[in-house]
Amino acid sequence: MTSVAPPISPRAATGGPSAPNPWRMALHQLDGAARRLQLDPGIHARLANCQRELTVNFPVKMDDGSVRIFTGYRFHHSIARGPAKGGLRFAPYVNVDEVRALAMWMTWKCAIVGLPYGGAKGGVICDPKHLSLGELERLTRRFASELSPLVSPEKDIPAPDIGTDGRIMAWFMDTYSMNIGHSVPGVVTGNPVAIGGSEGRIEATGRGVALCTRWTVERLGIQLGDCTAVVQGFGNVGSVAARMLQEYGAKVVGVSDVGGGIYNPKGIDMRALRMYQQEHNGIAGFPGTKAVGNDALLELPCDVLVPAAVEGQIRADNAGRLQCKVLAEGANGPTTPDADVILRERGITVIPDVLCNAGGVIVSYFEWVQDLQQFFWAEDEVNERLRKILGRAFDALWERSDVADQPLRDAALDLAIQRVAEALTVRGLYP
Ligand code: NAD
Repeated sequence: MTSVAPPISPRAATGGPSAPNPWRMALHQLDGAARRLQLDPGIHARLANCQRELTVNFPVKMDDGSVRIFTGYRFHHSIARGPAKGGLRFAPYVNVDEVRALAMWMTWKCAIVGLPYGGAKGGVICDPKHLSLGELERLTRRFASELSPLVSPEKDIPAPDIGTDGRIMAWFMDTYSMNIGHSVPGVVTGNPVAIGGSEGRIEATGRGVALCTRWTVERLGIQLGDCTAVVQGFGNVGSVAARMLQEYGAKVVGVSDVGGGIYNPKGIDMRALRMYQQEHNGIAGFPGTKAVGNDALLELPCDVLVPAAVEGQIRADNAGRLQCKVLAEGANGPTTPDADVILRERGITVIPDVLCNAGGVIVSYFEWVQDLQQFFWAEDEVNERLRKILGRAFDALWERSDVADQPLRDAALDLAIQRVAEALTVRGLYP
C-alpha cells in the first residue's frame, strides 16, 4: 500500500538543528500500521491529514517600540475521540511539518493510554531566549487571542512543550479568561497550582519515563539498581526523568543540554546538577565531570539511554553505535524509522514515545478534570492514578507485543490507530 498523504510541504522541517522531516516519519509509521491492520483506505486517508491547520501571523510590540510579525500554528490532527490536546512549542525551528507530526503523535498517545482526547500541537517561530519577559508575555497573549477560534476547554486544551512553561500557560489562561469575562482554568493544562494547575504536573512526564523504564528493565530480568543511564536533554522531561531514575537506584553517568554533555562513569548527582544548572544557566563545567559532545553522548556505554530533547536524534547513521539495552523515548519522535529497524536487529528494546512520555498528558487530563469539577486532588493521589493508568497501558502493550511478536512501537501504533479508527467508524462520516 502506498501512502495516501498529501505532498510534503516544501518548507524544510528541521525538528531541531539537523533532524529528518518528522511528518514523513509520522506518515511512514501510519502507513506501516495501516498495512498491518488492513485499515480501510478512507480512514487511512483521513488519518494521514490534520483535520484543521490554523496559521497566524501576528504583530508584537517589541521593547524598542518597533512592531515585529511572528508566525504561529495550531493544528488539530483528529478530534474523533474528544477535544484536541497537545503542547505549544516556542522555538526558532518550529515549522508546519513538525507541528503536523507532533499533532498526529498526540492522537496516538491519547488513544494508547485511553484518554478521551484527540491530538493537537501548536507553536510560534521565535527564540524565547532572545525575547525580554515583556516581549514574551505580549507574544503569548496575542498568540492566545489569535487562537481563540480553536481553543476552549471543550474544543482544544494547549499545554507546555519546548520553550513554554507554567508562566506562559498562566498568561494564556488569563488572556482567554479576560476575553470571555470569567476565569477559565481548564482552557490550558500545565498551569501553576495557584490558578488551577495540578499537583504533580511538572514532574509527570519525567516520572512516566522513569516508571516505564523501571518496568521495562524488570521485564528484561534486570533491576534498575544495577543499571547505568544516559539522558539527552535536561529540561522539564530530561531533568525529572534523570532524577527519578537515580531515585529508583540507577546510576546516571551522562547528561546533556543544547550546549553539550557531561560524563562521569561513577555517576552524577542529579539534585546537585539541577541546582548548578539554575545558577550557571546550563550544565557545562559541572564539577567532577568530563565534557562530551551531544553526538558522542548518545553513544556512551550505558544500560538505559533516554533521549529527552528534540526529534530525529537517533538515525540510521548513529543507531548502529548505540550501546544501550533500553532506549526510553522521553522526547517525541527521537528515533527515525530506519534507525528503528537497526535497533530492532540489534536487540535494543525501544519504549516508544507515545507510551514513554505519556505521563504528561495523563496528568494534564487530571488537571482538566479537576478544573472542570473545581475539586482538587493531593499529589500522592495524582501520582498513584498516573501509575495505574500508565501501568495498565504498559501491560497492554507488552501483551500485544508478545502475542503478535512485534516491537513495542508497532504494538503501540496498531493499538492506537485501531482505537481511533473505531471511533471514526462508529461516528460515521458527516454529512
Ligand atoms: P524543555 O524546553 O524543558 O527542555 C528541552 C531540553 O533539551 C533542554 O535542556 C535543551 O537544552 C535540550 N536540547 C534542545 N536541543 C538539544 C539538542 N539538539 N541536543 C541536546 N539537548 C538539546 O522541553 P521539554 O518539555 O523537556 O521537552 C523535551 C521533549 O519532550 C520534547 O520532544 C517534547 O515534545 C517532549 N515532551 C514534553 C512533555 C512535557 O510535558 N513537557 C510531554 C511529552 C513530551
